[in-house]
Amino acid sequence: MTRKTFDFAVIGAGCFGAWTAHELLRAGHSVALLDAYGAAHSRSSSGGESRIIRMGYGADELYTRWSFESLAKWQALAERVSRRIFHRTGMLWLSGRQDALVPQMLQILARLDVAHEQLTPQELGQRFPQISPVEIECALWEPDAGVLMAREAVQALVADSVAAGIDYRIAQVLSPDPKQRRLASIVTSAGDSISAGCFIFACGAWLPQIFPDLLGPRIFPTRQEVFFFSPPQIGSSFAAPAMPAWYHHPAMVYGVPDIENRGFKISVDKHGPAFDPDTGLRAASADGLEIARAYLMQRFPKLKNAPLSESRVCQYENTSNGDFIIDRHPQIENAVIVGGGSGHGFKHGPAVGAYVRALLTSDATTEPRFALLSKDTTQARSVF
Ligand SMILES: Cc1cc2nc3c(=O)[nH]c(=O)nc-3n(C[C@H](O)[C@H](O)[C@H](O)COP(=O)(O)OP(=O)(O)OC[C@H]3O[C@@H](n4cnc5c(N)ncnc54)[C@H](O)[C@@H]3O)c2cc1C
Repeated sequence: MTRKTFDFAVIGAGCFGAWTAHELLRAGHSVALLDAYGAAHSRSSSGGESRIIRMGYGADELYTRWSFESLAKWQALAERVSRRIFHRTGMLWLSGRQDALVPQMLQILARLDVAHEQLTPQELGQRFPQISPVEIECALWEPDAGVLMAREAVQALVADSVAAGIDYRIAQVLSPDPKQRRLASIVTSAGDSISAGCFIFACGAWLPQIFPDLLGPRIFPTRQEVFFFSPPQIGSSFAAPAMPAWYHHPAMVYGVPDIENRGFKISVDKHGPAFDPDTGLRAASADGLEIARAYLMQRFPKLKNAPLSESRVCQYENTSNGDFIIDRHPQIENAVIVGGGSGHGFKHGPAVGAYVRALLTSDATTEPRFALLSKDTTQARSVF
């Protein structure tokens, strides 16, 4: 890399790093963006086929607002790069009577003027006959929500940023010495040195390797399995637009309709076992497949014999409660940590980027929930 000193160096070209770099560039700064394996590569959390974007977050107003704001920016990106990276499939929340999530969402979505509609089990059955309403007491419909084509979207964003002047490199950055008060540069595994005024570490599940003492106890990467099943026919009632994205909250199972003929996606949102993003086995388990098929048989009976077309193993990078970490390093004054997507971060990429830009270039107030030291060292998830 050249001897130039950048205003900012962003390490990690997943969703969080790519949007952060993009926002800083658009604000007029010189930016280097580095990734060890390339933007949205297959082991990164952002490298999956699809990610749901929904505004409903229970009683959580902050993530509802961020999701709403981010949706507009994803759509603007799609227009700018002329790619279909967002599918407006709608989002269906399925819930039981004892579950407070839907009543809480109704209040917040109404307050923030987000389009939504409550459905009774009868209305659910009429509108979505391919979904069995067994054990569903209430449902909520978000018509403007949908699905982002994750890998494609991040790679398109990085290409767009490169065209606009970002300096993008494939390079593995070595851990900086955490005893330094200030970084003049970072060093790559190839021996190159990159100088910048400020360094933003958006390294996903690799953050604990970069700052082991600080983040080893605060970020918990977990193994998550995803299954794609082939519906009986192309353009079926399991494909968008007939089938929406969905989340069954009490069961913590979610899915994405068949988009671009890739198959009907289903996954369990409960945290899996601890996972190493470099060495963890990426073959799905027989147990996981059995759980997914049992859920299909109950909720989508017409898919009970659908052939498995693909499976993936990816990692969540969870914080103790599911809130992101967006904060300055406590010792290194010009290093910032951006991560802890916790299985729900993708949709928020644009809002995360804008937040980091404001944090570093203005006197914007910071959100205590994103503070590093607000994160516990034991897991107790509260964001869904
Ligand atoms: C199965 C699954 C389903 C999900 N579903 C949803 C969903 O429906 N909706 C939603 O909003 N979110 C969802 N998420 C969460 C979302 O995908 C993540 O929160 C988000 O992608 C995290 O992005 P990131 O940029 O922080 O991390 P990553 O995408 O992992 O990017 C980190 C990058 O840093 C790079 N890096 C690491 N170390 C170094 C180094 N030393 N030098 C250089 N580069 C380095 C890596 O190579 C990687 O590319 C899901 C996640 C999974 C796994």
